[in-house]
Amino acid sequence: MTPAGRPPERPGRLTRAVRERPLVERRPASRGDGARRRPPAIVVQGVSKTYVLGAIRVPALTDVSLRIERGDFVAIMGSSGSGKSTLMNILGCLDLASTGRYLIDGVDVLRMDEDDLADLRNRKIGFVFQSFNLVSRTSALANVELPLSYAGVDRRTRRRRAEEALTSVGMAKRFHHQPSELSGGQQQRVAVARALVTNPTMILADEPTGNLDSHSTADVLRIFADLNAEGRTVVLITHEPDVAGQAKRVITLTDGRVSEDRRLAALDAAPPVLRAQKSTHHLYREARP
Ligand code: ADP
Ligand code: MG
Repeated sequence: MTPAGRPPERPGRLTRAVRERPLVERRPASRGDGARRRPPAIVVQGVSKTYVLGAIRVPALTDVSLRIERGDFVAIMGSSGSGKSTLMNILGCLDLASTGRYLIDGVDVLRMDEDDLADLRNRKIGFVFQSFNLVSRTSALANVELPLSYAGVDRRTRRRRAEEALTSVGMAKRFHHQPSELSGGQQQRVAVARALVTNPTMILADEPTGNLDSHSTADVLRIFADLNAEGRTVVLITHEPDVAGQAKRVITLTDGRVSEDRRLAALDAAPPVLRAQKSTHHLYREARP
C-alpha cells in the first residue's frame, strides 16, 4: 500500500481508461423525422493546412469546405502537390488542420480524445495507400489480421475474418504468401482486405492504383465499387481521370483549393463500374455467416 492509503500509482501508459461516452454521439431516435436523418459522413468547413519548415511556410490547403454524404463514392483529383494527400490525412485523422473544422458523423474531431481517435482510425476507417504498406516477411493472413489484433479481437475470430476478407478480394489461394511473393495488384488486394476486415463505414484510399497495371487497377476499382454498393463511403484519391470516372462524384483540387465538384452518378445509384461489369464481391457476402 502506498502512503496515506492511496491506491498504487497507475502502471504507466499501457492501461487505458474505459471510455465514458460513445465514440459517435447519436441523437435519440425518438425526436421525430428530422432526428432520424443521420449527419453526413464528412463535413469539412474552411479547412486550411500550412506546413511549417523552419522559416518557410508551405500552404497545402486553403479554405476547403466540403460535405460527403454516407454511401457516396468520391474521387479527389488534382495534380501532384495540389494537396490531395494532405486532405486525406486530415479526413483520416492522421493529421490535424491548421484552421477550420472537421466533423465525422457529426462529431468534431477536435473534441475527441486520443482513445476516440485511435478507435476511429482502427475501426471506422479503412486506409489504403499507393505503396500498399504491408508488413514484409509476414503472410497475407497475418497482415490482414493486424488491425483486429489492435482492436483486441480473439485469435480464432481474427483468423476467420481475415480469411473472409482475403476471399472477398479474390485472394483465397494466397493466404500464406508473403508480400514479396505477390504481384503489385495482389499486394494491393491484401491491403484492401486489411482495410475492410474491421468492417469500416468509410474507406480512404490515397492513389491506390498508382502503382498498378491496368488490369489490377480495374480489379481494385471493382472491389471499391462493391464496397460502396454495400453502403460504405469511399473516398479515393487519384490523378488519373479514368480512375476518377469510376466514382459517383469528382472533386478537383488546384493549389490546395476546391476548383471543381462534379456529380457523375446519384448518391444512391450503383457506382458506374458496376453498371458495366458483373460484380465479384458477392463472394465475400456469401462467405459470411
Ligand atoms: P498531393 O498529394 O496532391 O501530391 P500533398 O498534399 O502531398 O499533395 O502536398 C501539398 C503541398 O504540401 C505540396 O506543396 C507539398 O510539397 C507540401 N507538403 C506535403 N507534406 C508536407 C510536409 N510533411 N511538410 C512540408 N510540406 C509538405
Ligand atoms: Mg499525394
